[in-house]
Amino acid sequence: MTALTGVGVSPGVGFGPGYVLAYETPVPAPDARHGGDAGAERDRAARALERVAADLEERGVRAGGEAQDILSAQALMARDPGLAVGVAGLIDAGKSAARAVYEAFGGYREMLVDAGGYLGERAADLDDVRDRAIAVIEGLPVPGLPSRAAQPYVLIARDLAPADTALLSRDVVAAFVTEQGGPTSHTAILARAMGVPAVVACPGATSIAPGTPVLVDGVSGLVRPAPSEEEVATARNAASARDAVLAATTGPGMTADGHAVPLLANIGGPRDVDGALEHGAEGVGLYRTEFLFLDRTTAPSGEEQEAAYLEVLEAFPGGRVVVRTLDAGADKPLAFLPPQGEEPNPALGQRGLRLLRAHPEILNTQLAALARAAARSSAKLQVMAPMVATAEETAWYVATCKEAGLPSAGVMIEIPAAALRAADLAEEADFFSLGTNDLTQYAFAADRQVGALTALQDAWQPALLDLVALAVAGAAEHGRPCGVCGEAAGDPVLACVLAGLGVTSLSMAPPALPAVRAALSRHTREQCRLAAQAALAGTSPQEARAAARSHLPGLAGLAL
Ligand code: PEP
Ligand code: MG
Repeated sequence: MTALTGVGVSPGVGFGPGYVLAYETPVPAPDARHGGDAGAERDRAARALERVAADLEERGVRAGGEAQDILSAQALMARDPGLAVGVAGLIDAGKSAARAVYEAFGGYREMLVDAGGYLGERAADLDDVRDRAIAVIEGLPVPGLPSRAAQPYVLIARDLAPADTALLSRDVVAAFVTEQGGPTSHTAILARAMGVPAVVACPGATSIAPGTPVLVDGVSGLVRPAPSEEEVATARNAASARDAVLAATTGPGMTADGHAVPLLANIGGPRDVDGALEHGAEGVGLYRTEFLFLDRTTAPSGEEQEAAYLEVLEAFPGGRVVVRTLDAGADKPLAFLPPQGEEPNPALGQRGLRLLRAHPEILNTQLAALARAAARSSAKLQVMAPMVATAEETAWYVATCKEAGLPSAGVMIEIPAAALRAADLAEEADFFSLGTNDLTQYAFAADRQVGALTALQDAWQPALLDLVALAVAGAAEHGRPCGVCGEAAGDPVLACVLAGLGVTSLSMAPPALPAVRAALSRHTREQCRLAAQAALAGTSPQEARAAARSHLPGLAGLAL
């Protein structure tokens, strides 16, 4: 079988026997009816859904981290009162419990898929809850994966349910390969958090025969079934040599000539702090607070928020912690905070700061909780707003933060208009943080959720680099720092270019920190500057990258 290609979303090389997730719960027959006792049948369905919810919750507690948030959200799906009513109604109409669950979930699924974006991506989670409930009702084995193995396996699936991946560890899984999913799918998020190589959007992967040895490269996206011994040895040697070299560079981020570029962590909550510290993060550059708010029917209280913020601040005594105030809307809709009116293009709608201006009480509660947490800790708290387009919005946000007693307030540069008029925004803000994920989406009019547009969602696009340069220059006019917290910061080659463009700090998923630290340490500031100039002169992402690399000779020794 020839090699397959997908999108590498978690770096590293993995090799092991392929475990193809083929188990599927049989679909209950359309004419499956119960024996006449609707009450008993409703109880069966309700008990099955509750058992599934409790099991998911328990798995979440055992897994911890982001997996727990995902599994708790799935447990909420199993306990959804609307679904329960739908199931009961179908049973009253004579359907068997299993068929009623199947049909009621089907209706919800369609709604999620039609909503698209973040909600659309949750359809796989809903299917998993449905299959688990049907398996319980029918007395079938509940879908699952071996959580122990004699030899770590390469897990291959069409898509993976969080309940399955949550209990897996690096001792069991050598790599993940999925046919579906994108860089924001659960497989990608969890694989990165686990530090396991992963390739998503890899067509044909499930046709690999179970047990076939598979070699996976989480950087290039190459998936090679039945590789030669030599291919495996070469890939493994390269990966372990690289890891050893990367581990040799420690300490704060800086160029070879001592120019400091602080290396910070992107986190979603207190559970991510250990990973950040383990990889030597100097602080937090992006605390995505929306994870506290998602999947809730009411806003978390100020006290609950204060506790979550304080836990993170206390992990970095004297260090910097940049908290992003709630970034809701578009692909992160909040049940208790719907947009006002219909939005045909949610990514261009009332999201981020725009939504908070419409609901100032939510922002004020969050800022007050942050101010109280900061007063109880020695960490340097900074707050920043997402989705800022103008100087007027910047001035409003900064004034609101200062009124709440927060000493440092900045804005994310995620919209091209903000980069183009960066000097105006810098006059108002204490600092900038470049959100290159959204900045790319809006600069190229290419929805970041759409897998078919990956070529345009590339931060190496010279036009994106131009916007970065503009933002840095605008910040510098007013002596303001300008960091990057989008995914671009975690690409070690691009990190050198960003430093060369004058970016003052880099924040990324913690496992990306060692490679970025090592790449920076092997080049002077001048080499980074030349690499940046060369990249800006390119006319395509490929050209920009190749030109930058030619000025960064130290990368060769890192096998990057
Ligand atoms: C970004 O847009 O680059 C960013 C860091 O924010 P998020 O990915 O959470 O939208
Ligand atoms: Mg963003």
